[in-house]
Amino acid sequence: MQMTLSFLGAAQEVTGSCHLLNIDGCQVLLDCGLIQGSKADVLRNHEPFFFTPSQIHAVVLSHAHIDHSGRLPLLVKSGFTGPIYSQKATVELCGVMLKDAAMLQARDTERLNKKRAKNDLPLLEPLFDEADVDRVMQQFVALDYGERTQVTSQLKVCLSDAGHILGSAVVELWLGQGADSKKLVFSGDLGREGMPILDDPTLIDKADLVLMESTYGDRLHRSWDDTLEELKSIFARTIEQSRGNILLPAFSVGRAQELLYLFHLHAKEWDLSRWRICLDSPMAIRATQIYVENYSLMDEDFKRFTRMSPGKHPLLSNVDFIDTTEESMELNHIHQGLIVIAGSGMCNGGRIRCHLEHNLANPLSDVIICGYQAQGTPGRLLVDGAKSLTISGESVNVAARLHTVGGLSAHADQAELLHWYRHFNDSPPVILVHGEVEAQKVLLAQLNADPSLAPSQSVIAEQGDCLDLTQLPQFVWSPNSIDSQTLEE
Ligand SMILES: [Zn+2]
Ligand SMILES: [Zn+2]
Repeated sequence: MQMTLSFLGAAQEVTGSCHLLNIDGCQVLLDCGLIQGSKADVLRNHEPFFFTPSQIHAVVLSHAHIDHSGRLPLLVKSGFTGPIYSQKATVELCGVMLKDAAMLQARDTERLNKKRAKNDLPLLEPLFDEADVDRVMQQFVALDYGERTQVTSQLKVCLSDAGHILGSAVVELWLGQGADSKKLVFSGDLGREGMPILDDPTLIDKADLVLMESTYGDRLHRSWDDTLEELKSIFARTIEQSRGNILLPAFSVGRAQELLYLFHLHAKEWDLSRWRICLDSPMAIRATQIYVENYSLMDEDFKRFTRMSPGKHPLLSNVDFIDTTEESMELNHIHQGLIVIAGSGMCNGGRIRCHLEHNLANPLSDVIICGYQAQGTPGRLLVDGAKSLTISGESVNVAARLHTVGGLSAHADQAELLHWYRHFNDSPPVILVHGEVEAQKVLLAQLNADPSLAPSQSVIAEQGDCLDLTQLPQFVWSPNSIDSQTLEE
């Protein structure tokens, strides 16, 4: 029986998650994410797929983040007609996120094409549009956590809570039958223990191969207590001076809701009544509604809070939802007393750019970076200490105080990744994906340094690698499965 796994995305990088299983000629994708980051990276999304979309039997989607789901509409546009299996809340979130992605596609392509036309470069088409997103939504098959589903005659999957964002899943896959069958576990993006709102990542004990994310493989996050102290000190200090705004670039799904919840929990302690808190993102507003509706998937603390204070929902009280562009632009006239949560989380698009333009030069304003910043993004430039930033073609001085609050990350850190892996019986072989290579090397060394942990085999996936799963626990790399015909087109 043929059984291979090819690494087609998020190999030695964080975005563009995409892996291809081939079981006896039946092809199934794990994730189909958008590549994000620098302009050159983003252009890679326009390259053809490494396979023929019409020949893909099904997709299993780990969670709604665009770096995992963002090329699904392009996949459908390119001929994929099969089912997309995902957790129910992920399906709902994709309805919001992919629609937004389609809108951004249209706008960004128009902007890019203006420049390309000037330089006599061929014009680009948007990767996909809203109609493609509608088709994706029809192809979804919504699953509950813990529900084992037959995807093909030779493949069963089961999703468990990954504790990363609402609906996020660790994917267990059973390939083949009988003595030759193999079990693969794909971590998706792993959340953290004790994170607000969500349950802890599910621990799994059996696997023949583990495919593990490694975003923060080289570092430890600050503890929750320290992180909360850090946030408190920022709010307190700014209140004393009280002549600036606080900007929080945040992913619309996950981080935005987490911040709203923290503001609810610490409203008194952080003296937040002196601030006007604005969630300035239509997508985050819709996502918040989906979080509110899927309350049964949250952790016990959150459920208790929701029960305890009916009419004062932890995600809906104390916050102004800024939906229209006009309302958002009005905020630009306010120079102090605002806390603005807006996307995008890496400052490479969305309303946060307008707020940065109006606040970055003010030394009494604060920018709190509280999420992962991919290489090449404006957010990363800020973290790396850029003295100025180009926004809408204008150079803006960075005088505002910049804070990097790493402890709010939605990704497991090194210790939490090792803890998650440690739960597997018999240290199964592991392949690292979804991380920058420096972080991956450090994590790999840590895995192998601990004799109680050391996997029989461990590698960092390279783009285009193809592993023959039939020989597990031995690693046998098979010829590259990349569809040469597609590449020649
Ligand atoms: Zn994610
Ligand atoms: Zn991711």
